[in-house]
Amino acid sequence: MRYKYIILGAGHAGLTIANYLKENNENNFILIEKENECGGLCRSKYVDDAYIDIGGGHFLDADNDEVYKFLFKYMPEIEWSKFDRISKIELNGEYIDHPIEANIWQLSQELQVEYLKSIAIAGCNIKNPKPEKFVEWIYWKLGEKIASDYMIPYNQKMFGDDLNDLGTYWLEKLPSVSFDETLLSCLNKRAYGKEPGHTRFYYPKNFGYGELWNRMGKNIINNLALNKKVSRLNVLSKKIETDSREKYEAEYIISTIPWICYDEIVGVPDEIINSIKKLKFSSTIIEYINHNIETDAHWIYYPNLDKKYHRILLRSNFLANSKGYWTETNKNRFDYTTKNFYFENEYAYPLNTIEKPKIMNDLLNYMKKHNIYGLGRWGEHNHYNSDKVVKLAIDLGKKLLKK
Ligand SMILES: Cc1cc2nc3c(=O)[nH]c(=O)nc-3n(C[C@H](O)[C@H](O)[C@H](O)COP(=O)(O)OP(=O)(O)OC[C@H]3O[C@@H](n4cnc5c(N)ncnc54)[C@H](O)[C@@H]3O)c2cc1C
Repeated sequence: MRYKYIILGAGHAGLTIANYLKENNENNFILIEKENECGGLCRSKYVDDAYIDIGGGHFLDADNDEVYKFLFKYMPEIEWSKFDRISKIELNGEYIDHPIEANIWQLSQELQVEYLKSIAIAGCNIKNPKPEKFVEWIYWKLGEKIASDYMIPYNQKMFGDDLNDLGTYWLEKLPSVSFDETLLSCLNKRAYGKEPGHTRFYYPKNFGYGELWNRMGKNIINNLALNKKVSRLNVLSKKIETDSREKYEAEYIISTIPWICYDEIVGVPDEIINSIKKLKFSSTIIEYINHNIETDAHWIYYPNLDKKYHRILLRSNFLANSKGYWTETNKNRFDYTTKNFYFENEYAYPLNTIEKPKIMNDLLNYMKKHNIYGLGRWGEHNHYNSDKVVKLAIDLGKKLLKK
């Protein structure tokens, strides 16, 4: 079967570009997805009389009006609730608001003193040279106490124990924790600094986040091929093949699936093929707990290594008529003996390893020369939030339609 465009993967990236093409009267495309439904990491399921997001807690917060305008066509704004974010961190048995560096004033006085002492001598505050390794860099940037109570164990829980495989380039945006500002914040008993991401966010009133992507899937139903796992890509002939040996070819291929999941990629230099094998990722499992917790938080972070999960999502605080909560746990820490509902996301977090920027740069540049485009969280192997993925997909759609 021959098309102008083949889109691989029906998560945000694939669904957005497919719908964008259709909106612009381009129907010569096929969207191929391995699951029997659309949505990728943003799917929801009905569990214990309400929805849960099986890819983890998902909230819509875009910094771009074009993204809202595009998404609200499929799920009008009136169908969403808007929230001011309440998220907490559990630290040594105490709960404070996120982000930690702005809210140390909420801890007991004993802990405030300990944190202040550690921030005063953080490497970046006493002008020590910047370390190259991830773990040392975190200590240097945030001080011993924030690093060892929060950042190091939390990252370990999410991404695994080999933290020094990670680069530091993606952390540059972390704020420097200033001793003067932290001290003033503790004395004045109020937060300081920049607001964290998702300070205000949208969540569907009557559904899980997956509903939006279901609707986008329905809109392009005639161009959708579900239950087809792509396993081979021939870059030179621009043909792809599925596990069940169906073949498709196109002028342009948009790949939103993980590069490491192809069984075979033909027509690519060995060094690029070998570097793809070095891309790393972590897997997350969500588990539903039928139990209510007294809190107004939408979600809570748990850096403490004694708890297996790293975050809980209290759905009754953002979805009407729901109860209970769900946890997010790295697959390597999960207790599979549970009797609760759980869902495994093999590809949850692309890891920002030291060599990743070069691998992806070489790979994407090579592919682009052959009219094959990596798009989205996995196509670009980047921790993008959904709004960013939507924007990138719209921009790629515009570019392709001009060709
Ligand atoms: C725990 C967690 C919380 C998050 N919270 C938020 C949030 O609050 N707000 C936000 O905006 N973003 C959030 N994100 C990010 C968001 O999930 C991603 O930005 C978004 O899902 C990326 O969409 P995508 O299409 O690039 O990838 P995916 O959603 O992963 O889609 C890829 C698709 O490709 C399919 N596929 C894979 N392999 C094959 C194959 N061989 N053949 C055919 N199809 C295949 C998959 O089944 C999937 O449907 C969160 C992510 C995680 C993990």
